Amino acid sequence: MVFMPEDFDVIVAGGGISGALAAAGAAKGGAKTLMLDRNDYSEAGKKTNWGWVCGDAVAKTHVDFIYKELDLKLTEPVLDVKVDGVQVISPDFTRKLQFEGAGYSLDRPKLAKVITDFAVKNGVDYRPRHEVEGPIISDQKVVGVYGRDEKGNQVKYHAKIVIDTLGIASTIRRKLPKNDFIENNISIDDIESTGRYIYKFNPAEGADTNYYDPKNAIIHLNQQLAPGGYGWVFPKSGRRINVGIGTEKKSLEIRNAKLNRKDTLHMLIDQYVRWNPCIKDPTIDGQDSNGKGYWSVTVRRQLDSLVYPGYMGAGDSMAMPNPISAGGIGPAMTAGTMAGKIAAEAIASNDTSMEFLWKYNLWYNEVYGNKTAGLEVFRIYLQSLNNDLINYGISRFLTEEEAVEISYGNIPKISIASTFNKVLSGISNINAFKNLLYCVKVMKEMNEHYNNYPKDLGSFDAWKRKVTERMHEVKEKFKPNPI
Ligand SMILES: Cc1cc2nc3c(=O)[nH]c(=O)nc-3n(C[C@H](O)[C@H](O)[C@H](O)COP(=O)(O)OP(=O)(O)OC[C@H]3O[C@@H](n4cnc5c(N)ncnc54)[C@H](O)[C@@H]3O)c2cc1C
Repeated sequence: MVFMPEDFDVIVAGGGISGALAAAGAAKGGAKTLMLDRNDYSEAGKKTNWGWVCGDAVAKTHVDFIYKELDLKLTEPVLDVKVDGVQVISPDFTRKLQFEGAGYSLDRPKLAKVITDFAVKNGVDYRPRHEVEGPIISDQKVVGVYGRDEKGNQVKYHAKIVIDTLGIASTIRRKLPKNDFIENNISIDDIESTGRYIYKFNPAEGADTNYYDPKNAIIHLNQQLAPGGYGWVFPKSGRRINVGIGTEKKSLEIRNAKLNRKDTLHMLIDQYVRWNPCIKDPTIDGQDSNGKGYWSVTVRRQLDSLVYPGYMGAGDSMAMPNPISAGGIGPAMTAGTMAGKIAAEAIASNDTSMEFLWKYNLWYNEVYGNKTAGLEVFRIYLQSLNNDLINYGISRFLTEEEAVEISYGNIPKISIASTFNKVLSGISNINAFKNLLYCVKVMKEMNEHYNNYPKDLGSFDAWKRKVTERMHEVKEKFKPNPI
C-alpha cells in the first residue's frame, strides 16, 4: 500500500546522537520536525543489531557545547565515569602522552534515551521502526525521503530540508545525484574496521596503569596488535571496561602477509584482550544486549561540504569522526546541534536555499572542522610507520608538548637543527623524520586553507580542488607499512 506524502519543515533521518540533537535543535527553533529511525523507541539510536557499538569516550567540551546551545545538561548516569583524559602509549611503553583533557565514559544506551526524550519533549514527531531507503529528488534538490514504516508499507515524507544523520552507511548520501558538494562514497582506505567488548572483570589491586587506568582512557599504539589503528581500554563504572581495536584493511593485509597469519578483526580483539595482563576472567556485560559488537568508523576530514540543495548532513554520515582518535561522538553532538539550529533559522527566514544553509559549513568549520584535514594528513603518516619507527619517533622527533599540539591539529615549531642533533642514526629513522617535516608542512598548509573556507558557493570548486590534490599527494607518498 502506498500512502500520500506528508509534509514537514524538516526531516531528520536517523535518530542517533547527531539525529536526536539535530531534531531537538530544529523543533526548539520552531520547525515542524519529523525524526525517523529504524529502531524501537526503547532502543533509539542503536547502530546495528550489535547495539550502540562504540568506545563511549567523549571530551567534556562537546558535552558543554550542547548545554550551551540546546540547554541540555547531561548528568550521571549518562556520564558514567569522569576521566582525566586520553593517554596514548607507545608500542614499547616508554612514552605515555596525555591528550584531550577531561572527558567522560558514557552510558550510550542511557544517553540515547535522554536525547530522544529531549527531542520528543521539544515537539519532534518521532517515528521509530522506519527504514529510510533514499532521498526523494526533484530538480536536483532533495525534497523528502522514502522508505518503509513499521508495518513494511512504503512511505514518503516531504520537507523543505532533510538532515541526514543515518551514520556511516547512509542510504541518503549514497543515493544523492552525483554532485560537487557531497561525495556518495567513502574510500575504504579512510575507514577503520572496529569492534569492542564491554566486559565485567576483576582488576587487580595496584594494576599496571599502562594496561588499565580507572581515571584515564588508554590507547595502545601498536602496529602488530592493531595494524593501521590502535587498541583501547576505557574505564566504565562497576568493575567494567570498554575494550576494543580499530584496524585498517590494507595495513592488516600487509601485516598478515608478513607474519604469515590470517588474523581477522575478531581475532585481533581476542588477542588484544589476552595480551592485557589486567583483564582477568572477563565476562561480557549483557546489559542492554550491548556487550559485544563490530562496526566501521571513518578517519578522514569531514566531507568538504555538509550541505547540498535541500540537504544537510551531520555525524558519521558526513565522515566527522576525528581522523586520529576516531572520536565521533563529539563531532556528532556539535554538528547535529548546529544543523538543527540552522535548519530552524532557514525555515523561520523562509529561505532554505543552499546559500542560506552554507552558514552551517562555516560554523562547523570554525568550531571543529578546520583542523581535521591536517589531522588526516598526520593519520596517513602515522600509518606508514612500523612499531620501531613509532617508538623511535615518539621519543626523539618530538617533545611531549609538540606531540600533544599535533594531536589537537595545531602545528608545532619543530626545530630541525636541535632535532637532528638528538635524532639520528639509521637511514630509516632519518627518512621518517624528513617525512614528519613534510607532513607538518602539509598540515600547516591545510590548516591555513581551512581557515579560508569559502564564504560562499562560488569559490568552493577551486578551494576543494586544492584539498583533493594535496590529499592525493600525501596518500601517494605515505603507504601503509605496519611491519
Ligand atoms: C567500535 C567503535 C568505537 C568507537 N569509539 C568511540 C569513542 O570512544 N568515542 C567517540 O567519540 N566515538 C567513537 N566511535 C564513533 C561514534 O560511535 C560515532 O561517531 C557516533 O555514534 C556517530 O553518531 P551518529 O548519530 O552520527 O551516527 P550513528 O550512531 O551511526 O546513528 C545512526 C542512527 O541511524 C539509524 N539508521 C541507520 N540507517 C538507517 C536507515 N536506513 N533507516 C533508519 N534508520 C537508520 C541507526 O540505527 C542509528 O540509530 C566509535 C565507533 C565504533 C564503531
